[in-house]
Amino acid sequence: MNQEYTVDPSRLVSPDASPADAEEVSLRPKTLDDYVGQEKAKGNLRVYLRAAQQRGEPMDHILLYGPPGLGKTTLAGIVAQEMGVQIRITSGPAIEKPGDLAALLTNLQEGDVLFIDEIHRLSRQVEEVLYPALEDYALDIMIGKGPSAQSIRINLPRFTLIGATTRAGQLTGPLRDRFGILLKLEPYSPKELGQIITRSAGILGIPITEEGALELARCSRGTPRIANRLLKRVRDFATVQGDGTIDEETAVAARKWMDIDAMGLDELDRSLLRAIIEMYGGGPVGLETLAAALGEESVTLEDLCEPYLMQMGMLTRTPRGRCVTRLAYEHLHMAVPRKLEEDGQQSMF
Ligand code: ADP
Repeated sequence: MNQEYTVDPSRLVSPDASPADAEEVSLRPKTLDDYVGQEKAKGNLRVYLRAAQQRGEPMDHILLYGPPGLGKTTLAGIVAQEMGVQIRITSGPAIEKPGDLAALLTNLQEGDVLFIDEIHRLSRQVEEVLYPALEDYALDIMIGKGPSAQSIRINLPRFTLIGATTRAGQLTGPLRDRFGILLKLEPYSPKELGQIITRSAGILGIPITEEGALELARCSRGTPRIANRLLKRVRDFATVQGDGTIDEETAVAARKWMDIDAMGLDELDRSLLRAIIEMYGGGPVGLETLAAALGEESVTLEDLCEPYLMQMGMLTRTPRGRCVTRLAYEHLHMAVPRKLEEDGQQSMF
């Protein structure tokens, strides 16, 4: 094995975009038909798109929510494409002042899509400017200061705001209420991820078998961004170690070498579970205590590890702290404590 070929596995399975994902743009589906999975969201969107097209009006404002890497930006691009309009992409933290938002809005053309990622991170001041823009397609601007200050109203072109957030609960009520369409994106099944991997492999010219794609799909944590990233890493591995084709055997060898197990857990996930079991008797243990024990930031554990471990049913959050489940013991090949054995038997009835 080539020792110089090193990777940081904790970053490989992160759903957040990284500079190494630059090729993402070319892998983005451009039409709803190319967009794999999310049947419910797609079905709803098709109806709204058709209605807007028939009325000759822009779409209602849309809020997309779900974990990172599930295809929110991609879906916004598809809406713009289907409506035949331009899309402007920005993010909550990038719009620092009301003036920044005003500049963006006044530069839109009739019907354009404005996509704001991480919309829950907009400041209150900026949100205030957004409300009349969303409701009346207007900007209220204050001119001057003190008693002579005047408010003037500028009309804006009709546009569609598509907001994306990983945390719908963090959006203020007034902002959430201004979206006519709310769509939740769900994690993808291994079968759907297999289709995404096969499609991406076709675009990038990577030979892959169906079994190879499925093996990568199973450890992609329900997330297309991770699936595409793993595909590119395994391509390198297959080129160096074999003839470049990704079959099941190469995929398994590559993921083992990257320290990712068959369910997509990396070393950090496993040490988190192991720490709860070995140091805290399976829990409950507080997040801060756990983070200190592992020498990690608590946000890293909360954002990077926990959502997937909970989705897989290996970890639970209780008011008293984090607990592992019977599945976690089984996955780590550790003896299941009697209490959980009994829980497991009871739950079968
Ligand atoms: P988000 O905005 O939710 O973080 P993106 O839209 O940037 O996610 O998607 C990340 C990558 O995953 C994109 O480059 C795209 O290629 C791929 N992707 C996401 N959803 C799908 C899908 N439904 N079908 C095919 N590829 C997808």
